[in-house]
Amino acid sequence: MLRILLRWCLLLTAISILSACSRSPTDHQQTLLVFGTLLDIKAYTDNPDQFSQAVRSLDETFQSMHREWHAWKGEGELVRLNQAFAEGREMRVSESLAELLRQSQDYSQQSEGLFNPAIGRLIGLWGFHSDEPPGGPPPDPAAIQSLLKAAPSMEDVRFDGNLLTSVNPSVEIDLGAFAKGYALNLAIEQLKTFGIEHAIVNAGGDLCVSGRHGDRPWTIGVRHPLGEGVIASVEVSDGECVLTSGNYERYREYEGIRYAHILDPRSGYPVEHVASATVISPDGGLADAAATALSVAGPDGWQKIAHRMGLSQVMLVDEKGRIHITPAMKARIEFQQQIEEILVSEQMNR
Ligand code: ADP
Ligand code: MG
Repeated sequence: MLRILLRWCLLLTAISILSACSRSPTDHQQTLLVFGTLLDIKAYTDNPDQFSQAVRSLDETFQSMHREWHAWKGEGELVRLNQAFAEGREMRVSESLAELLRQSQDYSQQSEGLFNPAIGRLIGLWGFHSDEPPGGPPPDPAAIQSLLKAAPSMEDVRFDGNLLTSVNPSVEIDLGAFAKGYALNLAIEQLKTFGIEHAIVNAGGDLCVSGRHGDRPWTIGVRHPLGEGVIASVEVSDGECVLTSGNYERYREYEGIRYAHILDPRSGYPVEHVASATVISPDGGLADAAATALSVAGPDGWQKIAHRMGLSQVMLVDEKGRIHITPAMKARIEFQQQIEEILVSEQMNR
């Protein structure tokens, strides 16, 4: 009797070991509401429990980043820092915010101030510091000019370790063009600490990936900024991010004219000549800041800024639907629609 029992036990153990070994990875997906947008997290894994745990932890991280880095809502760290800057006071900030601001300062300088997160007041003046942009006419030109004259810049922010001051009281930091890309990189890292090595973290088309989708790379679509559906698809490798800034997502409208939420810090007015700019880079924060800067630079100025920011993979769609693209981007992207005209730039250094 004992022998039979033992044999059964061995058989059962063998079956359970076998079934554990043969559990092959499959797709798992969860969605979070963070940064006022849906964050879609997809993993290719054989461990759904660990994935769920990882997503719960990501949710906490993102909610905290949203609270602390929000430019105009609540009493998070950035709101308090902006108050301190306005009043000429110094403030000690967390290491994570200091790092975010140091990087913003670098990218602002590299982009010749076209990415300028210090223009929070101008963004507020245009009504983009509200969940729903207002209707009605654009702001008073005199108010725009007076903010331009005050010339807030990231160079006005001084770092003494994590003790920050601004030498210009008109500096108001808004990380809307940068924080999302920066956070997507962190999300991929955090998933890895839970053993999730093959994942794609996607916030409304802005995304970072790790690993592969089984025996294939992850493939993603870039939305057409002027029409319907996907303009192009691209295979994304381990550690890469794809960030797009677009005119079509947030804007205000008055008498048939659309005013985009991306502002040209030189003129104080919204950008007009670019419908979207897409950047691929391993650094999500850089790609996000750059996508905004290149939207501002426009069809004539983008190549110089891309070069200065060390980017080789860039695509712009202009307001006429023409594509402006680097050779490295063109080599890997697959257009899914008929394109009017494709203008390939000179080869870039990196
Ligand atoms: P999206 O949110 O569509 O991906 P962006 O990354 O370009 O677009 O972010 C746009 C946001 O960045 C705006 O809503 C505003 O808060 C801020 N912003 C607008 N213009 C600039 C600029 N020139 N430099 C830095 N931040 C900007
Ligand atoms: Mg951006």
